[in-house]
Amino acid sequence: MVASILVGMLCAHLLFFAAMFLLISTRLHGRKLGMDFFALGNLLLGLAYVLQLAEGGPAWSLMSVVNHTLTIASPLAYACGAMRFFGYGGALVRPLTAFALAYAAAQVLVQWSLGPVARYAMLAGVSALLFLVMGIAVVRGARSFARDLQREMVFFALLIGGICVLNALKFLRIVDGGLEALHMDSRFQLVFYVYMCSLTTVLPPSIVWLVLRRLTDELRQMAACDPMTQLLNRRGLAQALELHFSAPGAAPVCLLLIDVDHFKRINDTHGHHAGDAVLCQVAQVLRGAMRQGDLTGRIGGEEFVAICSDTDAAGTARLAERLRAEIENQAIEVVGCAAVLRVTATIGVSQQFGSAQALDGALQEADVALYRGKAGGRNRVEWSHARSLEMQGAAV
Ligand code: GH3
Ligand code: MG
Ligand code: MG
Repeated sequence: MVASILVGMLCAHLLFFAAMFLLISTRLHGRKLGMDFFALGNLLLGLAYVLQLAEGGPAWSLMSVVNHTLTIASPLAYACGAMRFFGYGGALVRPLTAFALAYAAAQVLVQWSLGPVARYAMLAGVSALLFLVMGIAVVRGARSFARDLQREMVFFALLIGGICVLNALKFLRIVDGGLEALHMDSRFQLVFYVYMCSLTTVLPPSIVWLVLRRLTDELRQMAACDPMTQLLNRRGLAQALELHFSAPGAAPVCLLLIDVDHFKRINDTHGHHAGDAVLCQVAQVLRGAMRQGDLTGRIGGEEFVAICSDTDAAGTARLAERLRAEIENQAIEVVGCAAVLRVTATIGVSQQFGSAQALDGALQEADVALYRGKAGGRNRVEWSHARSLEMQGAAV
């Protein structure tokens, strides 16, 4: 009786959350993040438990074959959901269906050749193996594709480990004691159902949490990035600087404001799309020239920022000159544009600064220097007033 109530609760949990996952997947507008497969996994397992309730106990029937097949297919559907969540785009429905059909055929074979005990032992054994593989994949994922979700992955590995151990024990009990071991009200089966109930209560909110984390991370990323060049925008630069200066003993930084010369002419002569191509190419130059840990951003139409840390005046001067020269040397090919485009840029360099709050001041300094560079003929590097004096002083 207790077992029937537990299994009934399991069915309700699984089927309700299947509906919820399905709803979320439709709300995610085409991306789904694996929620459709999680819904499928819940649906398959929920139906399997409904069949188990209807059957009452071990039996050789079509219902039982379907039950075992659904039970085996559900963890695979969850695995497919996880693969989709982590960005795997390959075909998954066909292999899943093929595996389910192959397992149904294997059941018939095993039942005829080895008998019912072997068929039930096969279910527990294959389930244990599947969960073992999933657990290993989750642990490995914590160190590779899911590094940003390490704690969550450890939590999932523990949950999966539990169900793997219970299935392995069930396998041993069936091999040892036959179908008696599967009596629904046996203590082992009760523990099994309680664990499954806990799992189906804990897992859905955890999966929803993963989806929320993924979406908020993406939103944060979008809010910090310029969509055209994928460089940081002003907000992203400010946040990255906060992070940089939050580290103890963080090195001071220097800011370079890079403005493409006569950019409006490119737009006017070759069209807006040519202008966009030029901006992307300049972004590419910045990305290639900066060291790891330096920051690059686009803060306006044709205004870029490069922030380099831990570099002295001479190093900053070399970097600024290299950027200027590389931009000048780019031969930019644009689709639908006969001529190869060439541009130059003027660069204003700020003084060194040591806090994220100093960003606005540094931008103003660099802007003043940039203005001087424009007035002085463009395609040049100009230092902020204070730095110019400093360098003149050093030269005397
Ligand atoms: P200067 O040498 O003095 O910097 O002159 P400039 O022409 O580069 O500067 P100006 O500020 O006069 O013109 C900047 C132009 O950049 C005007 C604007 O239409 C264009 N622009 C702004 N954002 C974008 C963009 O995203 N794509 C393209 N193609 N053009 C843009
Ligand atoms: Mg310009
Ligand atoms: Mg400008």
